[in-house]
Parts: sequence; structure tokens; C-alpha cells
Amino acid sequence: MAVAVGVLSDTRRQTLGAICDTFAPSIEVDDGERVLRDFYARSASDLGVPAQIEGLLAQSMMPEEIEAFGQLLDAFAEHDFAGMELPARTELLAQVAASGPEAKLGVRRLRGLTFLFFYGLPDESGHNPNWDAIGYPGPVSAPPSPQQAPKTIPLEQVSGESATLTGDVCVVGSGAGGSVIAAELQRAGRSVVVLELGQYRNESDFKQLELPGMLELYLGGGLLGSEDGSISILAGSTLGGGTVVNYMNCIRTPEHIRREWAAMGIEGIDEPDYEAHIDAIWERLSVNDTATSHNRTHKKLIAGCEKLGYPHRTLTRNTNVLCEDPSVCGYCFTGCQKGCKQSTMKTFLQDAADAGARFVVGARAERILIQDGRAVGVQATVTHEDGFTSALTVNAPTVVVACGSIESPALLLRSGIGGPAVGKHLRLHPASIVAGVYEQPIEGWIGQLQSALSDQFAECEGEHGFLIEAVGASPAIQAMSMPWEDGHKHKQLLARTFKHLAPFVSVARDHGEGEVVLDGHGRALTRWSLADAVDARMFTRAMVELARLQRAAGAKEIHTFYQQPLIWREGDDFDAFLAAIEQGSLRANDVSVFTAHQMGSCRMGSDPADSVADGRGELHDTKGVWIGDGSAFPTAPGVNPMISIMSLAHRTAANMIATPKEASNGVG
Ligand SMILES: Cc1cc2nc3c(=O)[nH]c(=O)nc-3n(C[C@H](O)[C@H](O)[C@H](O)COP(=O)(O)OP(=O)(O)OC[C@H]3O[C@@H](n4cnc5c(N)ncnc54)[C@H](O)[C@@H]3O)c2cc1C
Repeated sequence: MAVAVGVLSDTRRQTLGAICDTFAPSIEVDDGERVLRDFYARSASDLGVPAQIEGLLAQSMMPEEIEAFGQLLDAFAEHDFAGMELPARTELLAQVAASGPEAKLGVRRLRGLTFLFFYGLPDESGHNPNWDAIGYPGPVSAPPSPQQAPKTIPLEQVSGESATLTGDVCVVGSGAGGSVIAAELQRAGRSVVVLELGQYRNESDFKQLELPGMLELYLGGGLLGSEDGSISILAGSTLGGGTVVNYMNCIRTPEHIRREWAAMGIEGIDEPDYEAHIDAIWERLSVNDTATSHNRTHKKLIAGCEKLGYPHRTLTRNTNVLCEDPSVCGYCFTGCQKGCKQSTMKTFLQDAADAGARFVVGARAERILIQDGRAVGVQATVTHEDGFTSALTVNAPTVVVACGSIESPALLLRSGIGGPAVGKHLRLHPASIVAGVYEQPIEGWIGQLQSALSDQFAECEGEHGFLIEAVGASPAIQAMSMPWEDGHKHKQLLARTFKHLAPFVSVARDHGEGEVVLDGHGRALTRWSLADAVDARMFTRAMVELARLQRAAGAKEIHTFYQQPLIWREGDDFDAFLAAIEQGSLRANDVSVFTAHQMGSCRMGSDPADSVADGRGELHDTKGVWIGDGSAFPTAPGVNPMISIMSLAHRTAANMIATPKEASNGVG
């Protein structure tokens, strides 16, 4: 999958191979079916995992980062790691991980990469040999041909060492927020150029495969995390951004959140007129509940809620009811092959293209160009398929920053604009997972990824709390997140439980906040922790409540995602299990925490010391630069944010249209 490029010395490569083969070793078992014996006998090296990891490092890391990784390998080589027997290697890995936070992070990342490829890497026929043993079928249908699913958004071809485009508006980022503004402004007669870091991929590219899906459609190949590994960050990076990979759970911005945001400077957002912005999005995305159906995981969630007397509701989703097909929906976190998902690729970006907007993909905005305190354009780097790059200048007097809440502040910081609040107040809706193992198969890859939720605990900490939702099951992500004691037990656990797993998830409204800063290479670096006492309480409480729901729904086993295994089995003392959850460590890399909702890092507000953009969406300190994505949120909304991001962007677009049009300047 990754191009095999040699960046490690032979010794380091040998050590890497031994580490991978400790996480996923070859184990001889005498009994059981052939498919299981083969699974246990297969090591990471048998699937070429170490070479894949080396190829990925070569593609994605700076030379000094590869060297730092090499030094971690050297530390193992000093003990002749590659020459040790499996039990000694397992023991040494645990010792190194326990030796300090950086070593723990390094070992966890290596483990994650090993399992990403061991359970995600397809062979030529599109199948991974480990799937048979864990009961996973892999893809259930092939993508349509490019003729059957043509790409209908024309792309600008940028070539040569440098190129220039000129327009009225440059929208940077084509996700939930940027796409709405691109469509609205182009329809209003402004000439729009959209720059998108990811590529243009549609139904014909969506293979229902976890590994290529993550590498091709997610920011950082789906492997992004905070600086210390405290949280895994999932965000889309493709034409359409997060809307192409997300779970289509559509929720209107709650009224109390609108009142809070109005008090912080977004005037009128709490008034009835604002409903028109939400309605416009709701309608264009075809949001409905008639096509919502519950898979087995969601049926368990609903059963648990009913047993405990908790409220629950069926979700409204942005899907085309005419082509909805639950048999393939479970794979749509790697893109919807049927084209049912009404992502912005199929809605607002198409509208923008039809009205004449121009699109450049593979284009990373490096910085915003400023003259005399106002925007005059964007400097970008376009990377072509063969690896060559073109420097692109877009001359435009208006720039919309919509790169998502990790990359938007990085763009402003690289440009030296936005004031002291840039990158601060990052909200992540931290998510915990607790999985139930049921007697009957759940097959969590079948059916809609999200179809129901409970808001029983939405206000368990005053105005903060968490929603209870559920997610699908996919082999590599599951293997990467679950605890690992040794290679044999990890394989056993996956083989025994994967088909029977129903993962419930909590989505918390952050009380504390994180931040985005720049690293030495001008790249975004996320800092976040569960240090805030309210966030820590909510996180632990959520795991306890998810466990109670699993039990109420009839789970035979309940698995937490602490890295030290913490599992309840039928017959065990349940109260003792809950007490152990409450005692669990929330330090970085001791428990799996996820975010699929990044928000607030370039927030709107009335105070320039504490916010980046004014109540209309334009930067306090730089005319012509507007914030158009989830980073504009003043605080976390506490609900899945796509609809809120798009409605706020719709309002910002109206504010931009009401602002007199500037002439396109040349950039000096
Ligand atoms: C797996 C998953 C499931 C989710 N499920 C739901 C759900 O069910 N309901 C819901 O409401 N929300 C859901 N979300 C969240 C929702 O999709 C996001 O909050 C939303 O897409 C964010 O919108 P945005 O405009 O802020 O940024 P994004 O949609 O992330 O778009 C930002 C775009 O900017 C591009 N970009 C980044 N840097 C640059 C640069 N320097 N130059 C040019 N382009 C750049 C990126 O490639 C990306 O395409 C989910 C997210 C994920 C990842």
C-alpha cells in the first residue's frame, strides 16, 4: 500500500521487524480450525508489515523525525531485541513503554501502525487473510466504474514551477463550512477559487477498504493525534472534507447554545431569523429520518436505554432516501459507494461548480498574503500525483479560512494574523468507547453507522455532559484501540469477539480546552489533555454509564479501552468493575480517547483579545479574511457539529455578500 522506500539501516529494519512480530507474532496452535491455525501462525512480517511502515515513514516524516524513530529502534537493538525469544521481547516492550511518557507514546504508535497494516492491508484481490479468522467479510460490493459514477466537478489544472489564478474570493478548505460559502458566494456573482489539500475522490474510488480509505480520505492518513498521544484525531481531508467520511448524524444547533454564542458576540444567532440558515442547510442536504434504520448495535443501544428508562431518539440523516442501502452503509466512513450520502461533494460543492467556481485539489495553502492590513490572496503548494510540486498564487481580496479546526489556526499562525486567540479554545468533544460482546453475532460493519442516540446525560455537569451514541466495527481500528498484553492474547481476543462486538460511544461537551500551535516546520501541533476536572469526571462517568447500558442490553462481556485490560465477564462483580473504571488512569496513552469533532480554535466573538473573528465572521485584525469552518464556534455545541458548522457558514456567507465587493488586486 505504502511505497516501499528504504530509510532505515539494516539493523534498524531488523529491529522494526522484530517489534512488529512481537505485536503480531507467529504462534503455533495445535487445535482449532485451519483458518484459525493459519491466523495464529501468521506474523506481521509474513504480511510485509515492517516494509509498509518503513514506506509510510518515508512518505510522511521529516528526516529528523525518521532519525528520532531510528533512535527508539536503537534503544531496543542495544538489548539485541531481534535475537530474543518472543516472551522476552514482549516483556521488554512492556518495560520500555513503562519507562516514560515518550517511550510509551513511541511503543503505542508502533503498535498502532503494526495493527493498521496487519488487519487493514488488502492483498491483490482486495482481501486481508486475517479477516477470515475474525469473521469479517471485507468489502461487500465493488465501486462503480468511472463511467457509471463520473466526476462532475471540473478541476483547474495547475502545472509548471509556479502558477497564478485570480478571483474575488479564495476559499481554503472544501469541507462542511468552506463548501457552503463557496456555493453561496459564487451564486451571488463573486468569482470563487477553492483550494483543497485532499484529492477529488468519488463513488468510483470508494472501495470499502479501511486502510486505503483512511490513508486517502483522512487528515494525516487517519493517524493524527495530539502531541503526547492523549487523543486520536479523526478529520476528513478530501474534496468535501469531513462530510465525505462522516456518519451523517444531523442535529440542529441547540437553543441554549445559540443563546450562549449570542452573548459572546454572534448577534442574532439566538433569534428566530437564524432558523432560515439552518433550514437552508437541512433542505439542501435532504435531511430526513424516513431512511433511518437500526442495525444490531443500535438495537442493543435502544434496548439498554429502554431497560434503564433513558430517553432515546432516532436520528435524522443527510441521505438520499431513494438510494439508501443499509447493507453497504457500514463501510461509508471510507466514502459512500452508492452516492446516498449527501456530502458537500454532492451538494454545495457541486452547486458552486455549476455556478462557475474553480477548484484546485492537492493544494496546501501555506499562508495568506496581506498588504496594508488586508488580504490580497493566498500562497499555496500544489502536489501532483508524481510528487512534483507547483507554487500557486491566488490573487483575491477576500480569503475564507475553512481548513478545519486543526489546520485553520495553523494557516493563520503561519500568516502572522488573527491576534492572540489564534489556536486557543480548541474544543474536541472527547469520545470514549465501551464495547459489549453479545452471545449472538452483531456484525458491526453491517447497517448505518449511526441511527440513534440518548441525551440522558447531556447535562450531567450543569451545562455540560455527554451524548450516548454508537459506532461501527472495523478490524484495524478495533485492533489498534484495544488493549495489548501480548501477541497471543490480542489475537485470541480479536478472533473470539470481533464479530460479536457492539461499541457504544460517548460524545462530551468540553468544559476545558486545548490549543493548536506550530511545530518547527510550520505544521499544526495539537495540545490537549483531560486535566480539566469536569472533563475528567465526565469522561469517567461516560464509561461507567456506557458499561451500565451494555449490561442492561444483555452483554456477556464488557470491554473498556484502558490500555491495561479492564474487562467484565458475566458472573464477575459488576460493581467492582464500575469501581475499577472510576479508578482508571486518564493519563495520555493509558486510555483510548477519540475526537471526530474539532472546533473553536479561531473563534468568533466580540473581544479581540479572546476571539479571532468578529460576530460577522471577519478577522478582528485583518480585513478581507473570514473564518468559515467549525473553528469559528465560540464554544462546543455538545451535539454532532456538521449542521451547526454549515448553518453558521451560511450566515457568514450572507454577511460577506452584504459587504461591498473589493477589486481583485495583483499581489506585489
Ligand atoms: C469519522 C467522522 C464521523 C463524523 N460524524 C459526524 C456526524 O455524524 N455528524 C456530524 O454532525 N458531524 C460528524 N463529524 C464531524 C464533521 O464531519 C466535521 O465537524 C466537519 O466536517 C468539520 O467541518 P469543517 O468545515 O470545520 O472542516 P472539514 O470538513 O474537516 O474540512 C476542512 C478541509 O480543509 C482541508 N485543508 C486542511 N488544511 C488545508 C490547507 N492548508 N489548504 C487547503 N485545504 C486544507 C482539509 O483537507 C479538509 O478537506 C464526523 C467527523 C468524522 C471524521
